[in-house]
Amino acid sequence: MNIHEYQAKQLLKEYGAPVADGRAVTRAEEAKTAAGALDGPLWVVKAQIHAGGRGKGKFKEASAGEKGGVRLAKSVEEAAEETARMLGRTLVTHQTGPAGKQVNRIYIEDGADIETELYLALLVDRDTSRISFIASTEGGMDIEEVAAHTPEKIVTFSVDPASGVSAFHGRKVAFALGLKGQAFKECVALVSKLYKLFVEKDVSLLEINPLIVMTDGHIRCLDCKMNFDSNSLYRQPEVFSLRDETEEDPKELEASKYDLNYIALDGEIGCMVNGAGLAMATMDIIKLYGSEPANFLDVGGGATKEKVTEAFKIITSDPQVKGILVNIFGGIMRCDVIAEGVIAAVKEVGLKVPLVVRLEGTNVDLGKKIIGESGLNVIAADNLSDAAEKIVKAVKG
Ligand code: GDP
Ligand code: MG
Repeated sequence: MNIHEYQAKQLLKEYGAPVADGRAVTRAEEAKTAAGALDGPLWVVKAQIHAGGRGKGKFKEASAGEKGGVRLAKSVEEAAEETARMLGRTLVTHQTGPAGKQVNRIYIEDGADIETELYLALLVDRDTSRISFIASTEGGMDIEEVAAHTPEKIVTFSVDPASGVSAFHGRKVAFALGLKGQAFKECVALVSKLYKLFVEKDVSLLEINPLIVMTDGHIRCLDCKMNFDSNSLYRQPEVFSLRDETEEDPKELEASKYDLNYIALDGEIGCMVNGAGLAMATMDIIKLYGSEPANFLDVGGGATKEKVTEAFKIITSDPQVKGILVNIFGGIMRCDVIAEGVIAAVKEVGLKVPLVVRLEGTNVDLGKKIIGESGLNVIAADNLSDAAEKIVKAVKG
């Protein structure tokens, strides 16, 4: 789960990490009061969307030379004007995809005088099963670019969970970032605060890009991205309350309510599959036969009829879907349950596109019988390539 920058900074603040004072607004009328509550003389006006690269991003229908989603203002009035200019518009960054994201919230912050921009991140390193720090002097730009062109400028190490974080790790980061004096001391303290936050809140990625040294010698977290392990949300009510459903794909949101593993894609063939591996294989074979999957969907091993019905409804609600391929291997999942779910869903929402069903495994004969007797216009398939060939043919003609 992702949260907004302003929410991440609130968490940073709770753990004593240095962030600027700021106010989030959703209406232009609130901007003047919000900006007026900050000291100035510099204000930063920042679009809040679940995507990075806002500074270099571009608004749709931008006027010539118009700035991106992070703007500096020299007065309260100017901060309010920039807020009004950005609210409600669609911002496209290299992380949003070409469709961009609508800006529903603006964060107005006390501006900083920047001396240097640095990079600091914590993440769960699955190779070492530990939390890793990534530090680089190359802040304010894409870390992927730095990794590709100047990997020697990235320092990374992991922390032994048994002994936890210590001043030693803090000094390692501060040296890697080339810090001295006051900034060095503050960085050592910051490292243990970030580690504590990371562990206590079940964070899976915490990225501060940039971490800055200001002209007054202090450090500050100027930007922050935080991702959380969704499996831990049951024990993180505070974090869960920060979820912004307007930032999520409505189909993916609906799927998550039914515990379905669903990812929306750009293609035209809707897939209903059980098991992540089979779902991947199904997507591959659709491509092999010359089409593109509209989604990844794993209904899981022990899906109920209700779950299958919901899955089918989500697939058919996508106007991009020109055909549906149901590919089920009945292991724990029984083929008759799938058949009943498909029929229940079709009865409810209708079927306007071709449907190919390939069933194999437990209760396959019963499943085929249920579909056969349903009177539905279903194209039966015997194996995976047969199924893919048939659905692509039905869609492409
Ligand atoms: P991102 O583009 O989505 O990563 O947004 P950031 O919060 O990282 O801001 C982008 C850039 O805007 C930063 O790298 C800074 O160069 C600049 N910026 C952001 N906040 C301030 C600030 O308080 N003062 C100044 N001078 N520049 C800022
Ligand atoms: Mg940034």
